[in-house]
Amino acid sequence: MKNKPANKIQDLQYFGEFGGVNPSISDSSTYTFLSAKSMSDTFEGNTEGCYLYSRHTNPSNLYLGEALAAMEGTESATVFGSGMGAITSTILQLCKAGDHIVSSRTVYGGTYAFMKNFTPKLNIETSFVDITNLETIESSIKNNTKIIYCEAVSNPLLEIANISEIAKLAKKRGILLVVDNTFSPLSILPAKLGADIVIHSITKFINGTSDTIAGVVCASQDFINSLRDVNDGASMLLGSTLDSLRASSILKNLRTLHIRIKKHSQNAMYLAKMFENEGLRTVYPGLKSHPSFKLYSDFVNHEYGYGGILTVDTGSLDNANKLMEAMQKNNVGYLAVSLGFYKTLFSAPGTSTSSEIPEEEQKEMGLNEGLIRFSIGLDNDIERSYSIIKKCMQEIKLIN
Ligand code: PLP
Repeated sequence: MKNKPANKIQDLQYFGEFGGVNPSISDSSTYTFLSAKSMSDTFEGNTEGCYLYSRHTNPSNLYLGEALAAMEGTESATVFGSGMGAITSTILQLCKAGDHIVSSRTVYGGTYAFMKNFTPKLNIETSFVDITNLETIESSIKNNTKIIYCEAVSNPLLEIANISEIAKLAKKRGILLVVDNTFSPLSILPAKLGADIVIHSITKFINGTSDTIAGVVCASQDFINSLRDVNDGASMLLGSTLDSLRASSILKNLRTLHIRIKKHSQNAMYLAKMFENEGLRTVYPGLKSHPSFKLYSDFVNHEYGYGGILTVDTGSLDNANKLMEAMQKNNVGYLAVSLGFYKTLFSAPGTSTSSEIPEEEQKEMGLNEGLIRFSIGLDNDIERSYSIIKKCMQEIKLIN
C-alpha cells in the first residue's frame, strides 16, 4: 500500500490564492525581497522558501517537481524545459573531463548522439554495451567510470534493464546508476529498485497531450540542490528551464496518468497478442515471447500493466512506410514520432528517432529498417482499431 505512486500524487494538496483547488500559477520571472540582506543570503543558498529568479526555481515548477518526486519515490526532483535538458544536465553535473560512462547501446537517439558525439568534445568517453548482459556491463567499468546510464524499457527495442542487479554492480564500484523511465512511468519505479537518479521526458506519457516539451530529474535533495547551484549547477547554468505556465498545465495532466497508463497498457497488450497471432514479429514486454518477460513481470507494478509501446518488424522499410501511410489514411493513428498521446502514433525508428545511430550499429543491435514503433493510444474500442489495422496489413500484403 505504502508504495502506490498514484496515491502519493493524489494525496498532495495544494491550494491557490482565494482557495482555488489548483495552485496559483507563478507568473513571474523574478521575485522581490524585503531586504537586501535576504537577497544576498538567497544567492548564497541560505534562505528556505525564497525565490530569486525563475531559472533557479519558482513555485509552479516546485509543485510539479514535488509531485514527480512523490511518484518516483525520491527525496526531491527538478523540472526542465525538455527531456534532453534533464539528461544533458545530469550527465554534465556528474562527469568532468577524463571521466567515463557505461551506457546501454539502445537508448533514445538524441541521448546516444549526446554521449557519442558531444561529450567526447569535453573529453568524456562512453562505452555502449548490451544492457541485458550483466557481465559485459561489469567488464566495461573502468577506474574513471562515473555513471551507468540506461532506460528502464529501451527506446526503441524495448529491452529491459535489470535495474536491481545493475544497481548492485554500481554500488559495489562506487558509481551512480541513472535510469530514464520515460517509457514506463508508474509501471516501474527505478529508485525503489536501486537507481540513484531517475529521468523522464515529460513530453511523453506524463503530460500525455502532445502539446509541450518538458523533462524531470528525480533524485536525492543533495543532487537536486547541486543541479540548481548558482555557481556550478548544470540546471541553473545551462538554463533548460521549464516555463511556469507549462509546469502548471503538466501538473493537472499528471493527475490522470494512472488512468491513462492502464488504458495504454490494456490496448497495447490486446494489439500485441493479435499481431503475434498473425505471425508478425512483435516485441512487447507483456508477451511471454519477450526475452525479459519474467524479469519485467517481477519488477512491474501490475495494476499499470506492461506499458503502451510495442514494435512490429514488417521486414523492410518499404513495407513499414506503406503500412504507416495506410494506417494514417484510415485514421487509426498518426505517422509521427513521440509517444503517450490519446491517438496511436507510429514511426520507423531506424530512419527517424534513432537515425543518429550509424547503420552498422543499428544492425548489430537488431534495429531493422522495417521496424515500426507504436505508441498505442487510448482507443475506446481497440477491437475496432485492430480490425482497421488488419485491413491495412492485408492491403499491403503483409498478412493474408
Ligand atoms: N528519453 C527518451 C526515452 C525519449 O524517447 C526521448 C524523446 O523521444 C527523450 C528522452 C528526450 O526527451 P525530449 O524530447 O522531451 O527532450
